[in-house]
Amino acid sequence: MKIAFFQIEDWEIEHIKEQLAGHELFFTKDKLSAEALPADRDFDIVSVFVGSKIDQAVLAALPNLKLVTTRSTGFDHIDLALAQSMNIATGYVPGYGENTVAEFAFGLILALSRKIYESVDRLKETGVYSYVGLRGFDLQGKTLGVVGTGRIGQHVIRIAKGFSMNVIAYDAFPKPELATELGFTYATFDELLGKSDVITLHVPYLPSTHHLINMENIGKIKKGALLVNTARGAVVDTAALVKALADGILGGAGLDVLEEEGVLADEKTLVLYGHPEEHNLKTVLENHVLIDLPNVLVTPHNAFNTQEALQRILDTDICNIQEFIGQGVAKCPIPVAKA
Ligand code: NAD
Repeated sequence: MKIAFFQIEDWEIEHIKEQLAGHELFFTKDKLSAEALPADRDFDIVSVFVGSKIDQAVLAALPNLKLVTTRSTGFDHIDLALAQSMNIATGYVPGYGENTVAEFAFGLILALSRKIYESVDRLKETGVYSYVGLRGFDLQGKTLGVVGTGRIGQHVIRIAKGFSMNVIAYDAFPKPELATELGFTYATFDELLGKSDVITLHVPYLPSTHHLINMENIGKIKKGALLVNTARGAVVDTAALVKALADGILGGAGLDVLEEEGVLADEKTLVLYGHPEEHNLKTVLENHVLIDLPNVLVTPHNAFNTQEALQRILDTDICNIQEFIGQGVAKCPIPVAKA
């Protein structure tokens, strides 16, 4: 098989070569998208990461493609329905990092609740050794609202229990036995917005979660609450988020993901060639407003990024490819029904 790995790092290459010996392997640090197609295109299998965009143009440009795998839990960068209609199999990494992302979400929660970034920044930037203006609040006894009680959400709940927080949760498919086991209660979405001191998002990006938090419901959030998003940017309407921060509805936000975050990495291209969907330029501008707000912490989609998680991701991806070659189906096919 001819197998191409996109967005690959040097340390991964030797491991892949050992595990997939005998196959023709192609490695690049680049993303795969319609704008960045490689010269060589007769791959049987491609492995990508978040930031690649596997759409109609890319699928049409790879005539031999039989399997596309993503080394991530999120898969909204792949046109699944189209891949399926073209008889192209898919694979993903469902469970590499529930602890990894949950630990990061709590990092953002603590950074906001205790003003850790501001504390460090004050000392480093001004040399002023003073806690004046840096008062935070305890997590103990506060209510955490967890949106999405899947793998990551469940781990967040376990961590929250260690902080003696009350936990309420919302999920389109509640699991009552889980609530009993972990000691939380399910609520309606509106109840969660109104009662939570901290809201943390752990749903996939789907049509049903597009702008789950929006102009209509953001006003229902308890005044001064914190919002943490390590899921996907477009689960929150950016315009509504900016307004809620400006109006004091939200006390702060921790965002590892942004709508239109792909553009942030390469704004020079945007300036030179424009945005393919011009109406999204407003969101790009709003992202800059968010980054500059003192009560907002934005991190560059970094929640997955630990050495342990990356090793687990790579091993699952290789397993997806090996099982597809041996048995015709990836070990973890992307669940089309959930798309
Ligand atoms: P999961 O599939 O285990 O859990 C998702 C949960 O969301 C499920 O319980 C599901 O029932 C629920 N859900 C689905 N649609 C819903 C809806 N419309 N309303 C309410 N609930 C709904 O997923 P996971 O492993 O916990 O990951 C969650 C998301 O986190 C991923 O899809 C990905 O987008 C994101 N993620 C981000 C990073 C990062 O680096 N920032 C890393 C990994 C995953």
